[in-house]
Amino acid sequence: MLRLPPLRRRSGGTFAALAAFFTVVFMLLGIGGASALSVPAPAAAGTAVQHTGVEGKKFAIATDTTFAPFEFRDGSGNLVGIDMDLLNAIAKSQGFEVDIKSLGFDAALQALQSNQVAGVIAGMSITDERKKIFDFSDPYFDSGVQMAVAKNDDAIKTYADLKGKSVTAKRGSEGETFAKSIAGKYGFTVKALADSATMYDDVKAGNSVAVFDDYPVLAYGVSQNNGLKIVTEKEQGSSYGFAVNKGQNQDLLKAFDTGLAELKANGEYDLILDTYLAKTEVTEQGSFFQLVADSFPALMKGLWLTMVATVLSLAIALVLGVLFGFFKVSESKIMRGIATTYVSIFRGTPLLVQAFFFYFGLPQMTGQPINVLTAGVITLSLNAGAYMTEIVRGGIQSVDPGQLEASRSLGLSYVTSMRRVVVPQAVKIMTPSFINQFVITLKDTSLLAVIGFAELTYQGQQIYASNFRTGETLLIVAALYFIVISILTQLSNVLDRKFNK
Ligand code: GLN
Repeated sequence: MLRLPPLRRRSGGTFAALAAFFTVVFMLLGIGGASALSVPAPAAAGTAVQHTGVEGKKFAIATDTTFAPFEFRDGSGNLVGIDMDLLNAIAKSQGFEVDIKSLGFDAALQALQSNQVAGVIAGMSITDERKKIFDFSDPYFDSGVQMAVAKNDDAIKTYADLKGKSVTAKRGSEGETFAKSIAGKYGFTVKALADSATMYDDVKAGNSVAVFDDYPVLAYGVSQNNGLKIVTEKEQGSSYGFAVNKGQNQDLLKAFDTGLAELKANGEYDLILDTYLAKTEVTEQGSFFQLVADSFPALMKGLWLTMVATVLSLAIALVLGVLFGFFKVSESKIMRGIATTYVSIFRGTPLLVQAFFFYFGLPQMTGQPINVLTAGVITLSLNAGAYMTEIVRGGIQSVDPGQLEASRSLGLSYVTSMRRVVVPQAVKIMTPSFINQFVITLKDTSLLAVIGFAELTYQGQQIYASNFRTGETLLIVAALYFIVISILTQLSNVLDRKFNK
């Protein structure tokens, strides 16, 4: 058993240093995040507005990732669509700013409930159920659910043909509610998926025979060659509205209604709708290389964020790993207990659950919104830190205790012995595991796509959400990960050989 008295005596200082380190990192990360709900922003110059209480403020608004023609990415990666154009026009006329968070439908509603955003605009139907927890604007579009099947499927034409089959609908959507409401009667099962693009892929792949989605969205998808065809008449559905949490952000809601009324009166509303709904001609798909070229800017942006999250997380994880790794080999039961508890919690729960917890759960419990990068880095660093702890512990323990004893008996102090004799040998042993953890953490950043962190996988999802070329886009994304990881692993190995000879 190793004796580590100096560490114990100095642990107060270590804690203080760690606390300071975290404070600085999270302050840096938190810039613009914690205040995302409503920060005063410079009012647009020259806009004459009445006093509605929203002028000059910036509101975080969540939306669906892919709900063309209401929200989707254009060729250059900008969020466009009826919802986006309406919201931007209203924000402009009412003198406020918006920060759009493209999260996915279900995640957008969760983000609103956890006060991560001030409102949701996502082709969101005004239903009685939802009115219990949200306040809605005036309706701006009348919708309804419809059923589509694969283009080459001639077997399914009515609900009755679904007997014994599986269909898909978006999690938490009116389409899902409708499908479930008739599932018993027609004898089919409903599988919920997160976004429209994935649902269409599921049908094309034959995993589901049909999809239930809002009719304008299905119609738009079909016009864009999404591989489906519509087979039923549309069901009477609810209208879309902009939502805020019940009793909150009433001035924003009012400003939305005022702005919407103005757009309807001055014809801009019709113009926006026509821009997107009149577009029914089928667009031809470009070549694979064209796709690579088109998606490159967005994917590079994603890759950059992937690297930022990886580097920040690993830096913090390393500190955590060293700290708790030494705790684990310390003589103190309490320190070992702390380190063991930490490791078992973060190694014993899935990363995805941790990400949801830090981004949606914690803010809901504390009432304090959190920036997505901050939540992502907290998740990844705490998770990787747990593995790093074990790497450090293993590294130290694998150095023969005789080494420390020998060094001590030569008259070197404990600290010097550790520093000059034990740690260098341990580091050598630990390096391959560190490189391994680095690769794992880099790949784990892709899980942050679910909380809307715009890293590489998220960018890929955004792209195939609007062009429906899932397979090819994923191939490009996977190739990028592979190239980057191969280069970085090669580099780390070279460094390892150089310094750990
Ligand atoms: N209109 C549907 C709903 O509110 C679907 C919305 C969406 O998928 N973005 O449930």
